[in-house]
Amino acid sequence: QKFVYDFTEGNKDLKDLLGGKGANLAEMTNLGLPVPPGFTITTEACKVYLDSGEEPPALRDEVSAHLDALERKMGKRLGQADDPLLVSVRSGAKFSMPGMMDTVLNIGLSDASVAGLAAQAGDERFAWDSYRRLIQMFGKTVLGVDGDLFEEALEEAKRARGAATDVDLDADDLKALVETFKGIVSRETGRDFPQDPREQMDLAIRAVFDSWNGDRARLYRRQERIPHDLGTAVNVCSMVFGNLGPDSGTGVAFTRDPASGQQGVYGDYLANAQGEDVVAGIRNTVPLAELETIDKASYDQLMEIMETLENHYRDLCDIEFTIERGKLWMLQTRVGKRTAAAAFRIATQLVDQGLIDEAEALRRVNGAQLAQLMFPRFDENRIGDSGVRRIGWGIAASPGAAVGKAVFDSYTAIKWSRSGEKVILVRRETNPDDLDGMIAAEGILTSRGGKTSHAAVVARGMGKTCVCGAEELEVDTKKRCLSAPGGVVIEEGDVISIDGSTGKVYLGEVPVVPSPVVEYFEGRMHAGADDADELVKAVHRIMAYADRVRRLRVRANADNAEDAARARRFGAQGIGLCRTEHMFLGERRELVERLILADTDTEREQALAALMPLQKGDFVELFEAMDGLPVTVRLLDPPLHEFLPDITELSVRVALAEARKEPHENELRLLQAVHRLHEQNPMLGLRGVRLGLVVPGLFTMQVRAIAEAAADRIDAKGDPRAEIMIPLVGTVQELEIVREEAERVIAEVERARGVDLELILGTMIELPRAALTAGQIAECADFFSFGTNDLTQTVWGFSRDDVEASFFTAYLEKGIFGVSPFETIDKDGVGSLVRSAVAAGRATRPDLKLGVCGEHGGDPESVHFFHSAGLDYVSCSPFRIPVARLEAGRAAA
Ligand code: ADP
Ligand code: MG
Ligand code: MG
Repeated sequence: QKFVYDFTEGNKDLKDLLGGKGANLAEMTNLGLPVPPGFTITTEACKVYLDSGEEPPALRDEVSAHLDALERKMGKRLGQADDPLLVSVRSGAKFSMPGMMDTVLNIGLSDASVAGLAAQAGDERFAWDSYRRLIQMFGKTVLGVDGDLFEEALEEAKRARGAATDVDLDADDLKALVETFKGIVSRETGRDFPQDPREQMDLAIRAVFDSWNGDRARLYRRQERIPHDLGTAVNVCSMVFGNLGPDSGTGVAFTRDPASGQQGVYGDYLANAQGEDVVAGIRNTVPLAELETIDKASYDQLMEIMETLENHYRDLCDIEFTIERGKLWMLQTRVGKRTAAAAFRIATQLVDQGLIDEAEALRRVNGAQLAQLMFPRFDENRIGDSGVRRIGWGIAASPGAAVGKAVFDSYTAIKWSRSGEKVILVRRETNPDDLDGMIAAEGILTSRGGKTSHAAVVARGMGKTCVCGAEELEVDTKKRCLSAPGGVVIEEGDVISIDGSTGKVYLGEVPVVPSPVVEYFEGRMHAGADDADELVKAVHRIMAYADRVRRLRVRANADNAEDAARARRFGAQGIGLCRTEHMFLGERRELVERLILADTDTEREQALAALMPLQKGDFVELFEAMDGLPVTVRLLDPPLHEFLPDITELSVRVALAEARKEPHENELRLLQAVHRLHEQNPMLGLRGVRLGLVVPGLFTMQVRAIAEAAADRIDAKGDPRAEIMIPLVGTVQELEIVREEAERVIAEVERARGVDLELILGTMIELPRAALTAGQIAECADFFSFGTNDLTQTVWGFSRDDVEASFFTAYLEKGIFGVSPFETIDKDGVGSLVRSAVAAGRATRPDLKLGVCGEHGGDPESVHFFHSAGLDYVSCSPFRIPVARLEAGRAAA
């Protein structure tokens, strides 16, 4: 097994092995771009180390061989006293985890070689600056010294010198600082800063391995659903220096605007600096476009390289580069993160440029991004009279509209959000320790840093609203307040609004408007119009691709005509789940109570007869809204006690009435019924088909209402396509009894009304036994609809209402679940039951219709699973329909 690859040996498809950074450094090297030579230690080596606590035995020799080759190529040895080769040791996992893991620059510098570096560069200040950076980074990341100690010493040195920034420190200042830093290391770690270059390198490699399991990295992976067992690669890269004076510098760039997708020159440049300085916001960067006046040759070359990279990767790339005395070096590239809007726009732009085809465009966007675009935005027009005032204008770093109470540290953000408050995390700039606070907040506001600052990058990745670099705002974390021009002071707890699409910051709560994408889906905005929003046009095109290729049909869960109509506008191809219990609430509750309390057949029949026209009326409206499309109506499912008053409340009422000697006969009857129907585990009690079998006439009434409604629609020249669905079936016998009765009723209505009703009858598969006997059940069912919520509960043996609050967080933290099985279908468990039920059902009845209803129907990953399991349709809430359509298309593309 080979653990080390030279940059010339790898390529971009080896991300699993070389990590994203290593694979792309190799790709750029092989494209002939100016990449400083180096090599990559594989993720396999990291895995061995993480599993066993030791580097694989072969690693040391392999690293030596590659280092040897590198030294020969560069004509100097690592840390060589008179002319030292210096390297960076850089983390780089398969998926980019910005700022989550460690990198150490300037490895190889020591007391012995610092003078050699100075002599070679002809710049003493530069050499000592590099050395102090090494001790600082190495001390912090490799030796675990508190980074603030170095920061404070640096601040102190600047103060002593009256220097505004680190560039104002001269060689002697830096020499003294190096001594201070070395002192900090010795004091804090009980050992001296290692002077042996190879030891520095080996320790740094090990530290990078270890950083895979750092708290920040683990939290980030959980958030981003990146598996914990991938490990990181380590890149050893010869150093190039952006801190060699004004004709040197470092920067980051995007081949297009990651916020809008627009082509142009986007990025930040910082003269006389090393890489980390740009991201950390140590000094203010200049826009990349200014590089043209600073160093035209390098600028032109960079533009050319950016075009090469875009054409090569056929996508937006982001780039890290350094200029060393007028020579441009590429230090990193990758397919760049982007906002949801940019993803859609870029995908269609690339189709137009002929770089990708429609199937590829579909793969370049996803349902989560579409969902994000459906969030509301601030109403610019109503800001004027809403009493809010704009207090700042920063950089639109990650779109969305967020309103919340200002908090100034992550701890408060988490605490307040746990107690149900919406908060905006306000910081001067964020760092990786703010991650939990950022997750807890509605949005993030910083007063420093640009589009590539930590806050911006991480917020975009999480899909969180972020405004950064709002420079006229003064953040005082200690006093917990924010001052804006004109003497406005915002204290902790004051409500602010931030607009991540425009960068504007407001004091107060700004009214919000629906997103243009929703307006488009609602049919209130047309993609064809000349002045249509570019984003709407892009979404329209991508949805059209998705609809063209997808095999899964998409239906809606809807219980009333209004939802049905909206679902239809959103592209629903029918209703997959109409829950009739929702029709039993409100003022009809009393009728249901009468049904439950009925002592005699006559009382019961009267109650049912009163409910029947109401049910029928609902169905008529629903069938009309979905005319020509299937409507699956589920017969009553929940336990009856859900329709009765709360037991405590009722007991109090009875007791009060008794005390006051008021008549309370009715309350007493109700209370008795509540007691009678009380269940320890209602989820596993008298519900679903069981109700239909023990409450005489209930299902019959519902079936009659459906049949009569369908007959009405036929009379009105409509095209009703009702499907009757029996919930919670565990055995085919249950279904047989219900079916026989239903067929009798339907035939009766058909005769009486003189119509031919094409009603079909099927069942939910939501109990393990139903799934296991699906072959038998299919004999009696025209369709199956997998009720994956209940199926998940019964397969796992836990009830959703109980577990989500009690132990799910612990399970997620321990990595037992990557994601809640109620959110994304558990493919191995629940999913395998679905697969076998599909196979058994189709074996019995090849034309069996198969669908799924339940939250999973609108979850991107689950949609892909249902596609591969061979279902015919998914059903989800109306608002999720576009997401399901898109993901069904992606699954098929
Ligand atoms: P991250 O993954 O956090 O971006 P990197 O490994 O890319 O970490 O390195 C951090 C910074 O150091 C980047 O700005 C990068 O460009 C710079 N850097 C890394 N290696 C070198 C090198 N060999 N020469 C000069 N700068 C480097
Ligand atoms: Mg980087
Ligand atoms: Mg159910």
